[in-house]
Amino acid sequence: MDRPLLFGQRALVTGSTSGIGLAIARTLLEAGAEVFVHGLVDAVEQERLERDLRLIGPAHFVAGDLSDASAIDGMMAQCGALDILVNNAGIQHTAALADMPAAMWDRILAINLSAVFHTMRLAMPAMAQRGYGRVINIASVHGLVASVNKAPYVAAKHGLLGLTKVAALEYASAGSRQSGGVTANCICPGWVETPLIQPQIDARAAACGGDREAGVRALLSEKQPSLRMSLPEDIAALVLFLCRPEAHNLNGAALPVDGAWTAQ
Ligand code: NAD
Repeated sequence: MDRPLLFGQRALVTGSTSGIGLAIARTLLEAGAEVFVHGLVDAVEQERLERDLRLIGPAHFVAGDLSDASAIDGMMAQCGALDILVNNAGIQHTAALADMPAAMWDRILAINLSAVFHTMRLAMPAMAQRGYGRVINIASVHGLVASVNKAPYVAAKHGLLGLTKVAALEYASAGSRQSGGVTANCICPGWVETPLIQPQIDARAAACGGDREAGVRALLSEKQPSLRMSLPEDIAALVLFLCRPEAHNLNGAALPVDGAWTAQ
């Protein structure tokens, strides 16, 4: 029998206790990787997640509040040398620029951007030494275009695209086609059905007399021409493709999964 695609590879997926990150963790486990699962949940939930995911493959929970740079050092040390780093954790807060609390700006920039700089600077040298590594940053369409009321989120996601391009350039020549090379890419989803966007759906549903379906349609019709949300599993499938050996020259890209949002 053939070995699974990611057999012997070690992956960290930040923010994998729910939504897109959880789907990515499952997909990488199914493909044979050892996966460090991470997020802000209590000990009971950590155990439950580990137990569920171990039915698929070797999963370990690793803690670390990404708003605290020193916690990131400890988290990365616990994971050891990584083959795959998926920076997925992120938060959102919507408010007009003038009403955005300054502390919220700092928090979103810390979690959605600075934390990614820290995990990358700690993980990528060992990837280069081994000639294989995949850094996959879950950005957003908001790394490519803006929307109102999302100043820190849009700024952080645009910054994430720039950071990823720098890493792609610096590590482009590491390894070989045989070893798989070291790449850094961003995935830029439009609307994906997860807890993160629930407050925005709730607000639209309320404006539509409590009709959730009508609220979702109203949200999508503004920007996402497909009028369909993506599922977390759709994003996970693209992550898996980026881990494949054939993706060794797919580097420094920002890949939209947005139902043609950014084609407009
Ligand atoms: P989610 O809210 O379901 O999950 C977020 C994860 O991040 C959770 O595991 C949470 O514990 C973790 N997290 C949050 N703050 C943290 C902190 N301080 N330290 C450690 N972990 C923390 O969100 P999601 O919708 O799955 O989003 C995942 C990523 O995808 C985010 O970066 C988000 O910006 C991006 N994204 C989501 C959508 C969407 O429509 N859902 C669209 C585009 C981009």
